[in-house]
Amino acid sequence: MQKIALGTSNPHKLQEINEMLKEIHPDSVEFVLVDGDFNPVENGTTFEENSYIKALEAAKIMNIPALADDTGLCVDALNGRPGLYSARYAPDQPSKIKKLLSEMKDVKQGERNACFVCAMTLVAPDGKKLHTSVGKISGEIAFEPSGEHGFGYDPLFFIPDLNKTMADMTLAEKNTLSHRARALKPMVEWILENI
Ligand code: IMP
Repeated sequence: MQKIALGTSNPHKLQEINEMLKEIHPDSVEFVLVDGDFNPVENGTTFEENSYIKALEAAKIMNIPALADDTGLCVDALNGRPGLYSARYAPDQPSKIKKLLSEMKDVKQGERNACFVCAMTLVAPDGKKLHTSVGKISGEIAFEPSGEHGFGYDPLFFIPDLNKTMADMTLAEKNTLSHRARALKPMVEWILENI
């Protein structure tokens, strides 16, 4: 089975990606975490650039092809913020939720549109960029957190058609529609055809 290093220190991402893989192409690729601490400096100017920085670092450490994603929450009423700075918006996840709710406190229903963007880049062991994919999902920022599943901003990301937040969904449900699922599917297809 093709081994690919996953450039992340986030166990939720590994879990999501492995679960999705089981559904779409079981026994095709094995994602392995990078050995040791993984903290590359994410100083790119786009999601794609940051995903490349993380994948490059993972490929260098592991000397096998590497995949990384960079994800952000872009809120219309905040002119696209926190966007690229979603990880650095506040020191920990509870304070990120608190800060977002506070910034959105005067924003009315109907003006709370947002989207998650996920860019993924696959890099060869020599550092060459092999492929990039992007997945997106639209929703709204809820007025209060809801749900116990997922991670990050999921408790505030409300999907009106489903009448629930991403954290109200089971992992299996999130994986049918998430920004990460929408980026991973074409990426895995590319991997299966080209590597
Ligand atoms: P990064 O892609 O690891 O840099 O994540 C950026 C920020 O977005 C972090 O605060 C993550 O917790 C959050 N994040 C990443 N992916 C998701 C997701 O699928 N749902 C909710 N929040 C996410």
